[in-house]
Amino acid sequence: MNAPVWDDSAWPPLPRLEGTVRADVCVVGLGGSGLAALEELQALGVTAVGVEARSVGAGAAGRNGGFVLAGLAKAYHETVAQFGRATAAALYRLTVAEIWRQASDQPDHLRLTGSLRLAADAAELADCGRQLAALRADGFAAEPYAGPEGEGILLPADGCMQPLRRVRARARQLRERRVSLYENSPVRRLVPGAVVTDGGTVLCGTVIVAVDGRLELILPELAPRVRTARLQMLATAPAPEVHFSRPCYWRHGYEYWQQLPDGTVALGGFRDHALEAEWTTAAAPTAFIQRLLEKFLREKLRVRAPVTHRWAGAVAYTADGLPVLEQVRDQVWAAGAYSGTGNVVGALGARAAARLACGQGSEWADWLGRARAGGPGS
Ligand SMILES: Cc1cc2nc3c(=O)[nH]c(=O)nc-3n(C[C@H](O)[C@H](O)[C@H](O)COP(=O)(O)OP(=O)(O)OC[C@H]3O[C@@H](n4cnc5c(N)ncnc54)[C@H](O)[C@@H]3O)c2cc1C
Repeated sequence: MNAPVWDDSAWPPLPRLEGTVRADVCVVGLGGSGLAALEELQALGVTAVGVEARSVGAGAAGRNGGFVLAGLAKAYHETVAQFGRATAAALYRLTVAEIWRQASDQPDHLRLTGSLRLAADAAELADCGRQLAALRADGFAAEPYAGPEGEGILLPADGCMQPLRRVRARARQLRERRVSLYENSPVRRLVPGAVVTDGGTVLCGTVIVAVDGRLELILPELAPRVRTARLQMLATAPAPEVHFSRPCYWRHGYEYWQQLPDGTVALGGFRDHALEAEWTTAAAPTAFIQRLLEKFLREKLRVRAPVTHRWAGAVAYTADGLPVLEQVRDQVWAAGAYSGTGNVVGALGARAAARLACGQGSEWADWLGRARAGGPGS
């Protein structure tokens, strides 16, 4: 148990870091975000290496629900209320552009299906209405929805993917372009000018830590703001008895599911039913949450196919819902803490970190900075 349904093909291990290597920048963490940072660094003509504790996509990037969603973790109208209309709209627009970028870079891995936010009750349906109105007022695509899955809103800009295949394909591309990636090399210490693992050291001018869950363990100074939680999922054998053509989320996103092209249903959720226990850096599934998921699968989704996979992953949250993107120590940048939705925002944040670390500007970082500084007037 604890293998995601996405781990469906062989992945020959990459080398472990041994001895001393030199690079301008060392990226710690080879999830979707770290790989995006490496792509950006290469585009900027900077020599960079990537170092990973386990294997490419072993963290949340290869264990998630596969939703590719526009916007920050909170719904659009809540982001408007929190940070102001101009900031919310700019951040949303950049995430829509990032989805298009990912879809055109990796057309085999991302399906632009749209997503469904489904209401669990009348109060949530009213909230869907507020989200719809706010999106439309700012020119973003959204439609009311009523169908066999339930009632809510359809968000046409969103999509879904097989997350582990996607990150592995990105890592392969980077290696073809001669970027060195090291697996099974947990970083033990960050010291000025060096990243130290058990087997070797990267001597580098700059470090980008691109880690979501457990970020505060690598950079303890972030601990007061960043907290790691466990998210759990399960998946079934192909389930021809149901048909979900788009990824769906329900009860303000606490439960989420997608049906894969072969009929498999992947379902996650119920973190809030054991909130204290799920604030943990452990990432093994628990019987309590898995029982809730299975009950929902049978009673709400009407899936009869047997459960084949159960797994968990670690992600980090911030109180204000804004991701971490900053220089934490001299020449050490951090990108992480996506509050449960990092497939799009993580790539944006890590690419921004790469640009900032190289003295370049970043529109994403500018707008995040305004959100952090400004509140609703911004
Ligand atoms: C069950 C679940 C469902 C989710 N569903 C969705 C979804 O549908 N849509 C969405 O957008 N987001 C979702 N998320 C969140 C999303 O997966 C993450 O926000 C995103 O994948 C983060 O990617 P990352 O590359 O920033 O971090 P990670 O994937 O966490 O990658 C960081 C990497 O760093 C490595 N690492 C950690 N410490 C060290 C160290 N000391 N030395 C070296 N390497 C280290 C880890 O092994 C890991 O591989 C979900 C997460 C989970 C767990």
